[in-house]
Amino acid sequence: MADQDEKNTLPVSDAASGGKSDVYVIDLGGPDPDPAVLRRAVDGVLDRAGMDFRDRSVLLKPNILAPLPPEMHVTTSPAVVKAVVEAVRDRGGRPAVGDNPGGVERNSLRTAEVTGILAASSGFFRNLSEEVVELPTSCPYTDKFIISKFILEAEVIINLPVFKSHMLTTLTGAVKNCFGYIAGTNKARLHLSAFSRGRFAELLLDLYEVRVPDLHIVDALYIMDGNGPTHGRARPLGKLIAGRDGLAVDAVLTRMMGLDPMQVRFFQKVAEREQAGRRPPGRYREEDIRVLDAAGRAVEVEPVPDFLLPSTIGVSIEEQAQLLASLGSIRPVVKEDLCVMCGDCRENCPPGAITLDPYPVIDAGKCISCFCCAELCTEGAMEVPSGQAAGLFDRMFRQSGGRGEG
Ligand code: SF4
Ligand code: SF4
Repeated sequence: MADQDEKNTLPVSDAASGGKSDVYVIDLGGPDPDPAVLRRAVDGVLDRAGMDFRDRSVLLKPNILAPLPPEMHVTTSPAVVKAVVEAVRDRGGRPAVGDNPGGVERNSLRTAEVTGILAASSGFFRNLSEEVVELPTSCPYTDKFIISKFILEAEVIINLPVFKSHMLTTLTGAVKNCFGYIAGTNKARLHLSAFSRGRFAELLLDLYEVRVPDLHIVDALYIMDGNGPTHGRARPLGKLIAGRDGLAVDAVLTRMMGLDPMQVRFFQKVAEREQAGRRPPGRYREEDIRVLDAAGRAVEVEPVPDFLLPSTIGVSIEEQAQLLASLGSIRPVVKEDLCVMCGDCRENCPPGAITLDPYPVIDAGKCISCFCCAELCTEGAMEVPSGQAAGLFDRMFRQSGGRGEG
């Protein structure tokens, strides 16, 4: 991994930007751009990244969370995948498109088909779930990561996340998309062992460091706010956000959500580790990031108007426990009119808190509020309560300046 470490240590733009990480916010003029416009934008990103793809295996890692159609904007836009595949191919690279879908879904081919990503891969789709390796880790919450072998073999990784809110991690962008390195059922095991936001943030950081992607191109044609990453509110934005430093990219996305990165547990953990003498795998402070437009001009980060934060933000597991006494429950609630009794939620629940009778029944004593069931239910039948609870969460969050996440 020596070459890899060297290659990934610093963003390529360092020399030109005085030690700062460059993040490009590229306006495409609308959420459904002409393919030629999208391709020009991708080519611009690849040119500025200064990467040589010739004769190199290049993994494109989209978000293929669940078998949901592209018009739901849960998974990476096929148009973005296609533009990047073709650009890499035309530059002499050997592209491969792959991801591990969420939960116990092992059939990544079917998921890729439904999401439109299989067709967009232009014959370069690769089933990442077929070969996995066990990687020992010093992560305090697991002794090993079981990941797709090709994650370690690919000479270049281009990360293609979607800009979405997330009930557990607040944001899903560059770093969270790397949770897809983990194969199938092992995701549930990790959710269970790292059951709070703080622990899960540390685990994400450790996993990200296993193989830091070389480039991140975030699909923000349509973004998701509210209770993402599956059943939030899809909104048109018409942008790509790109850079070689995933932490810097995520810091910019966080600011676009209207938050300071230090209000998010993940960045708090990065800062804690930095204070303890551990070098972070990227930059996240505003003063260490240059935000540029497609022409390379410095621009201000523009928050997305009325960005709806997840109703779970700012609430620690301990606070949730206290809230239970007064609010009843913040566990997901089954909407029986939408439920098709498929049992996917039961299969994907890390602590096994769900039984079917005939609809899902959640054992509140076992539930760890990870929201995997809501994330992976394709019918939208697992609802995370809002209303009274969300209002209280929101007040707590504002009072605590967002420091209250567990
Ligand atoms: S809540 Fe969703 S995942 Fe669970 S059984 Fe019903 S439809 Fe299936
Ligand atoms: S019931 Fe849902 S939120 Fe609770 S632990 Fe299971 S998957 Fe997570």
